[in-house]
Amino acid sequence: MANKMTKRIVVAGGAGYIGSHVCVELLTGGASALVIDNFSNAHPEALNRIRELASGDLEFLECDLADPAQKDTIIGAVKNFRPDGAVHLAGLKAVGESVEQPARYYRVNLGAALTLIEALEAADAKKLVFSSSATVYGDRNQSPVDESGLTGATNPYGRTKLFIEDIAKDIARSDDEWRVVNLRYFNPVGAHPSGRIGEDPNDIPNNLFPFIAQVAVGRRDKLQIFGDDYSTPDGTGVRDYIHVVDLARGHAAALNYLTTQKTGGAVDINLGTGKGFSVLEAVAAFKRASNRDIPYEIAPRRDGDIAEIYANADRAEKLLGWRAEKTLENMCADHWRWQSQNPDGYKA
Ligand code: UDP
Repeated sequence: MANKMTKRIVVAGGAGYIGSHVCVELLTGGASALVIDNFSNAHPEALNRIRELASGDLEFLECDLADPAQKDTIIGAVKNFRPDGAVHLAGLKAVGESVEQPARYYRVNLGAALTLIEALEAADAKKLVFSSSATVYGDRNQSPVDESGLTGATNPYGRTKLFIEDIAKDIARSDDEWRVVNLRYFNPVGAHPSGRIGEDPNDIPNNLFPFIAQVAVGRRDKLQIFGDDYSTPDGTGVRDYIHVVDLARGHAAALNYLTTQKTGGAVDINLGTGKGFSVLEAVAAFKRASNRDIPYEIAPRRDGDIAEIYANADRAEKLLGWRAEKTLENMCADHWRWQSQNPDGYKA
């Protein structure tokens, strides 16, 4: 796979949680990367760590893709880099915040995507892998859900993902040189097995794994489990957790797929394991991996949550030759290694 990989890739949001793992995967596979990031939910130290884990050519542009005043600089830098394509992971991603600040979410997420698309057009590098989300399936599907599932987001964050998928599809329809993969991630967790890069939330974590990890390491007293009365085997919510290194490999496979495509177009592809685990199962697995107590209490359901969602990941296997390989145990062990070795994230 590595030697066939597209060689020069813009990674928008490359200093973030998923972006940093994508960079390591691309550099290790022999590609060069231009990271564009404004560190809005990322830390400069992540770039040092990427360089530590993977030799190879990593360039960096500190810019805000959503700021119209920086657009010309960005387009110039992208053209200069002479990319073959891009992975777009730059955006705001807190569901609750998006409900409170919808206009900001639409402006930032859509603006960043459009500037990147314009830059790729200007550089004549019309290949895009977009970081979408299983959140686009909303609450209207039975699991396992495949890519023909009904879409309909339940909050502004999710709608930005759907809009950008649709924008990318319109662009691909308008010009058959464009090739797009919308990767619909299920629940990315875990960290690079070295423990050097991982998720470092700015604030109180919204997501389950970073919260559990902060409880295990003693930064927070206890976990709240949002509801134990769902119609699932143990009453807690079921999700398809996927190791971030598997996810990063999925991006490399998607870029590879785009370079081998003879015809243009856009395709949606789920990245998940196809297996669901409950909150209680995740807590138990993390407890075993960390050998720490994880106190929890049952709290009311969280607005907008659904009982269960997990992927049908057949299309990724068929089109990309990709399948998730890591287990829930790997996810917990690696997440814990990162958290225990970096209790305050990158700040220390
Ligand atoms: N969850 C929880 N406590 C938390 C965070 C999440 O019980 O502090 C549950 C949530 O209700 C869902 C699962 O853990 O069933 C995964 O939530 P997360 O926010 O990580 O991802 P989502 O699937 O909601 O995007």
